[in-house]
Amino acid sequence: MARLELDSVTKRFGEGDGSVLAVDDVNVDIADGEFLVLVGPSGCGKSTTLRMIAGLESITSGEIRLDGQRINEQAPAERDIAMVFQSYALYPHMTVRENMRFGLEESTDMPADERNARVEETAAMLDITELLDRKPGALSGGQQQRVALGRAIVREPKAFLMDEPLSNLDAKLRSQMRTELQQLQADLDTTTVYVTHDQTEAMTMGDRIAILDAGELQQVATPLEAYHRPANRFVASFVGEPSMNFVDCGVDDGTLVAEFDVPVDGTRTADLGLGTEGNVADDREVETVQFRYPLGADVAGAVAGSAEATLGVRPEDLVVRPTDDGSSEHGGTAVGDGTGTTGPLGDTAVDHVFDATVSVVEPMGDENVVHVALDDGPELIATVDGLRRIESGTRVRVGLPENAIHVFDGDSGEAVH
Ligand code: ATP
Repeated sequence: MARLELDSVTKRFGEGDGSVLAVDDVNVDIADGEFLVLVGPSGCGKSTTLRMIAGLESITSGEIRLDGQRINEQAPAERDIAMVFQSYALYPHMTVRENMRFGLEESTDMPADERNARVEETAAMLDITELLDRKPGALSGGQQQRVALGRAIVREPKAFLMDEPLSNLDAKLRSQMRTELQQLQADLDTTTVYVTHDQTEAMTMGDRIAILDAGELQQVATPLEAYHRPANRFVASFVGEPSMNFVDCGVDDGTLVAEFDVPVDGTRTADLGLGTEGNVADDREVETVQFRYPLGADVAGAVAGSAEATLGVRPEDLVVRPTDDGSSEHGGTAVGDGTGTTGPLGDTAVDHVFDATVSVVEPMGDENVVHVALDDGPELIATVDGLRRIESGTRVRVGLPENAIHVFDGDSGEAVH
């Protein structure tokens, strides 16, 4: 059993005014055999957290427990935890076999036969048997990566720590190794903490993901929970690609309201600062329009006490239809909150449908990323089926289904819906 607990773990570098609070009161309980991905932007404290677990960095306050035992004071070699580094950290003068055996010699008094057998077994598992007598300099990046993993696995530690182990590999190899690593971890059933800034790795590999920002833990959840029920605006913007659309609004008696200056008379498409020819925006006449989004009773109740709230909607949850298409023959999700009587894109008040113009289309193959400028609202990013022909300048109707929206408190950024 190897449960790993971080209890109010804090790290401050330096003292006084110039000090840096790198990790701020982090609490995570990682189950035996779990694959936890620690994810967040550069500088958020991921590596520092991992290094504290490994014993490579002291802990300012809080406690780390492995199997219920406090390990704060234990030296790295005493912890029965193996770390895989981004740089692989192989010894260049040793062969692959010696590199893999080294970890065993350092930490155990195992007989030589058994050591050799373990190295052979692990090498077979990783498909690197034929590389055992080569030195790291004669290996590709992907092969070195496997050796680094092998050196960790051969020790049969209680936990693996991995710090961006795939980031030096090219995109194709990275995606292949992602799957292999996941499979390997599942087979070995060893508790793993995996650090990355890559949200694809986080979403596809982790049993759960722990999202950090500025040293603070924002949410610990399964990837699907973090996607569907982000705890706050930061998580909502970090998880999902393209990123969620946000509209900062005031709250007026259960309706979200925001004002926008837009050019008069259908010239909106050329006025989005997106590199259109000439700078025509300056002498364009603008008018102020009001975006209004009436909330259902539950959400309205949740924001009743707030002056401001942010509406969030994912690009894939927006429903975009040509204006002259009242039916649903183009496929896609029907818009409606179940209370309407007029069907998809029918009753505007019920279905939250807005007239808009497509300003930019980015074909991505299986999908198109389209920018839609609402006549009475902001420009939003939507994804639509790549097979649909859609061009800039097309008039469309855009649905923001109530069951797909997220609402965040204007002050705290916490999700209220
Ligand atoms: P990256 O993805 O860029 O590696 P990270 O999320 O792993 O970033 P950390 O390396 O843990 O972030 O750094 C967290 C914060 O602590 C940063 O502000 C960093 O500058 C600071 N920091 C890290 N190591 C030290 C150190 N030895 N002395 C002072 N500050 C440090």
